[in-house]
Amino acid sequence: MEITNLDGIGMTSQRTRERLIRQLRKEGITNEKVLAVMRRTPRHIFVDEALASRAYENTALPIGHGQTISQPYIVAKMTSMLLADFAPKRVLEVGTGCGYQTSILAQLVDEVYTVERIAALLQQAKKRFRKLHLYNIKTQHADGNWGWENQAPFDAILVTAAPQQVPESLLRQLDYGGRLVIPVGSAHQQRLRLIVRRAEHFERVDDEFVSFVPLLSGKV
Ligand code: SAH
Repeated sequence: MEITNLDGIGMTSQRTRERLIRQLRKEGITNEKVLAVMRRTPRHIFVDEALASRAYENTALPIGHGQTISQPYIVAKMTSMLLADFAPKRVLEVGTGCGYQTSILAQLVDEVYTVERIAALLQQAKKRFRKLHLYNIKTQHADGNWGWENQAPFDAILVTAAPQQVPESLLRQLDYGGRLVIPVGSAHQQRLRLIVRRAEHFERVDDEFVSFVPLLSGKV
C-alpha cells in the first residue's frame, strides 16, 4: 500500500515546510529560487516512513547503509554557493544518497548527472525522481572519485561526501569558468570549499565548517 503522499499531512504539511523555510532564512539563506524549490519539494518522501514526521526539521537523518540525508541548511547553502551569479546548465553530483539534493538541483538547472557507489540507495533514489516527475536526472552506479568521464565537462560539480583531498578527476572534468563545491577534510570535520576553474588555474575559497560522511572508494 502507498502511504506516503507528496502533499503530506500533519507534521509533513505545507505549514511545517514553511517553518523550515523561515529557519533557513534566519540562518542566512537568501537565494529566493533555492528557497522556493525547497518549499515545494517534499523532503518526507526521501526518508523512512518512521522518520517522516522529522523530515522538516533542520537536521540530518539516517537513510540506511550508514549514510545520511544532508541537513536542509547544508543543501540550501551548497546549492546557493553553486548558483550565486552563475547559471550552470549541466551539473554533476557525487553522492546521490536518498536523492534529495539531486531533486533540488534538478529543479534549478537543465541537467543533473548523479553518481552513487551504493546500488541499493541509487535504486530507491531513482524511484523518487520518477514519483516527482523529474526527468532531467541521469544516474550512474559508480565510484564518484572518477567523476563521470564521458559526460564531462560540467558547468558545475557538487560533492556531498567528504574526501581528504579534492580528486583530480573532478577538477579535470570542470569546464572553464566552472564551479566545484566540495567538503574537504578529515572524517570528523571538514570545510566547504568553492573552487572556480580559470583556464588552467583554480581559485579556491574556503567557507564554513561542516560534517559529511566520508567519500569512499569503489562501489557496492
Ligand atoms: N546528497 C545526499 C547526501 C547523501 S550522503 C542528500 O541529498 O542528502 C553522501 C552519499 O555519498 C552517500 O550515499 C554515500 O554512499 C555516497 N558516496 C560516498 N563516497 C562515494 C563515492 N566515492 N562515489 C559516489 N558516492 C559516494
